[in-house]
Amino acid sequence: MKTLSPEFQIIQDYFDIQGAAQSHHSVALGIGDDCAVLTPSANKQLCISVDTSIADRHFPADAPAFDIAYRALNVALSDLAAMGATPLWFTLAISLNAFESEWLQSFSAGLFTAAHNANVTLIGGDTTKVPTTAPLSITVQVHGEIETGKALTRAAAQIGDNLYVTGNLGGAGAGLAVYQKRLQLNKGAEAVVLAAYLRPEPQLLTGMQLLNKANACIDISDGLLADLGHILRASNVGACIDLGKIPLSAPLRQHLPTNQALQLALGAGDDYQLCFSSALSPEELGLENVHLIGSIIEKNTLDFVNAPADFDVNNLNTGFDHFYETPV
Ligand code: ADP
Ligand code: MG
Repeated sequence: MKTLSPEFQIIQDYFDIQGAAQSHHSVALGIGDDCAVLTPSANKQLCISVDTSIADRHFPADAPAFDIAYRALNVALSDLAAMGATPLWFTLAISLNAFESEWLQSFSAGLFTAAHNANVTLIGGDTTKVPTTAPLSITVQVHGEIETGKALTRAAAQIGDNLYVTGNLGGAGAGLAVYQKRLQLNKGAEAVVLAAYLRPEPQLLTGMQLLNKANACIDISDGLLADLGHILRASNVGACIDLGKIPLSAPLRQHLPTNQALQLALGAGDDYQLCFSSALSPEELGLENVHLIGSIIEKNTLDFVNAPADFDVNNLNTGFDHFYETPV
């Protein structure tokens, strides 16, 4: 038999490896034909999102291949988390500028580690070679399902809602700064923030637990204030944030001045935590790792209370008029 061309050899060796046994029961036909054939659940809606990650724009080209893949899939899955959807399938379009088996092996390991964690099946894709000078490009499309009419959107925040975030913030922003040698911490702290940047975790379980509990929800990819801004605009409301309640990533809290830590937590992206509004109190929500940071208000402004003395509101890029309570 004729040997496979490099493209098909790559697909077989590194991507078509999940096997029928591991794939979701909804996959009638996976990788290998002209289309995947899928069986959606009755009475459910599909949530679909696509994200392209380009080397040296969205991730460092010299990052470990495992992390590049892990991150590319998790970043896409984070959009499903924000809707409260259950992940089912994903596709991968990859443009490679080199075919290196060690790199591909590590990329494949990262990809399927993330896929296994989220219980999502690779159902197809496209593999192309681009000139060596072109950047590596990875496009992941994710598909999830949700009970009809239940998806958590950006437009459903209600005046009087409590405002929450999951996890802690600022770690990924600090990790990028460490990676780019703009910030130095001790080795242990650097390892924590680098992992936050290179290996984000989509908050899928929390997203699903928020169904019937949250009103509006978004994932924090561009920074808390920028992403909260999307909720406020879509819902035509404002917010008041208690800066004393922002959950800071531990290395930031321990090693950086409060003002610098807050700037990262509010303004830097890549944390992939969720920001949501809910009429429920923290006790009524009953969720771990969820922090109350403020409330939804009627006037279309972003207000801050409990700002530290040296907090510089003018450095924050929110696209919003802010009301700033001068510390007394
Ligand atoms: P076609 O020419 O019909 O578009 P391709 O030759 O591009 O098909 O791909 C062959 C099969 O391999 C298809 O089922 C496709 O979905 C799958 N595939 C290609 N690249 C990837 C990839 N990077 N990851 C997963 N599946 C892939
Ligand atoms: Mg093709």
